Amino acid sequence: MEKERKGVSRRQFIKGSVAVTLGSLMSKEVFAQAKEVLAPSKKSGTRLILLGTGGGPRPNKMRNQSSWVVIADGVPYVVDCGGGASRQMVFANIPLAKLRYIFITHHHSDHNLEYGNVIYNAWVSGFKGRVDTYGPPPIEKITKLFLETNAYDINIRIPDEGRSPLVPMVHPHEISKGGLVLETDNVKVTAALVNHPPVEPAFAYRFDTSDRSIVFSGDTTPCDGLIKLAQGADLLVHEVIHKPSLAKLLARIPNADKLLEHIVGSHTTHIDVGKVAKEAGVKTLVLTHFVPADDSSLTDEMWMEGAKTHFEGKVIVGKDLMEI
Ligand SMILES: [Zn+2]
Ligand SMILES: [Zn+2]
Repeated sequence: MEKERKGVSRRQFIKGSVAVTLGSLMSKEVFAQAKEVLAPSKKSGTRLILLGTGGGPRPNKMRNQSSWVVIADGVPYVVDCGGGASRQMVFANIPLAKLRYIFITHHHSDHNLEYGNVIYNAWVSGFKGRVDTYGPPPIEKITKLFLETNAYDINIRIPDEGRSPLVPMVHPHEISKGGLVLETDNVKVTAALVNHPPVEPAFAYRFDTSDRSIVFSGDTTPCDGLIKLAQGADLLVHEVIHKPSLAKLLARIPNADKLLEHIVGSHTTHIDVGKVAKEAGVKTLVLTHFVPADDSSLTDEMWMEGAKTHFEGKVIVGKDLMEI
């Protein structure tokens, strides 16, 4: 828990399309998505960018692992750092050197694999301020061990490139229960415990800014804690699985006999996610953390149709680098 009143200077991020660069690096399908979502933003106020919308630890060609960012008054608040998160920030024109806050929902690798790397990549991109990170235990140990693992490189770059020492810049905060996590001039962040066995604790986060409320479910089954946290929110960014497609998914993954049991017992189906959104009374439901992440036979309409079974508000089928 922490209350900070120190204002961070307000800056506008460089906006604009990087579609040309992306074209040489991405598959045709992802490129088409990126072109659509990277159009220069005309929005003012709090921004939400989906950096990665895939669920699960296996890298794939369609969706990056989980990561999202809220930008309020020019300050990025990164939520989860799945593999590829730093590069997605670059694609989204979020200067890594402006890193300030990271929130980890839980310690599954598709949410924290690049946690240390985001900090490191910010450092080599010119960051030299302070980064505060929040998440369940053992985030302090994870931070310490990451910095130790990379100490050889870090210690060489300090004299060789004239960089400031990284270790004193990183401040991890462990949270073990729901409640207020951070309050700044711009944003109030609140956490709630969610149900994602066997990972415990696992959190959802709510961001309230002057003009928007955004809730991230993290990974969870439908649960009261999340529904309470998300009451009346403008946006609920929620994980989702397509249960009828899981058998097909599992047939492609060797040596994962108990995976089906885990997925069904700790996530939310594309039908139930609409019930959660309805019970929370949110305005817009944003689907993310798609499982399967890379089944091209699952159309946007199929995801949407399930979510709309019980929810009458707006549903957005999330895509990497989409700004909402
Ligand atoms: Zn996950
Ligand atoms: Zn998980």
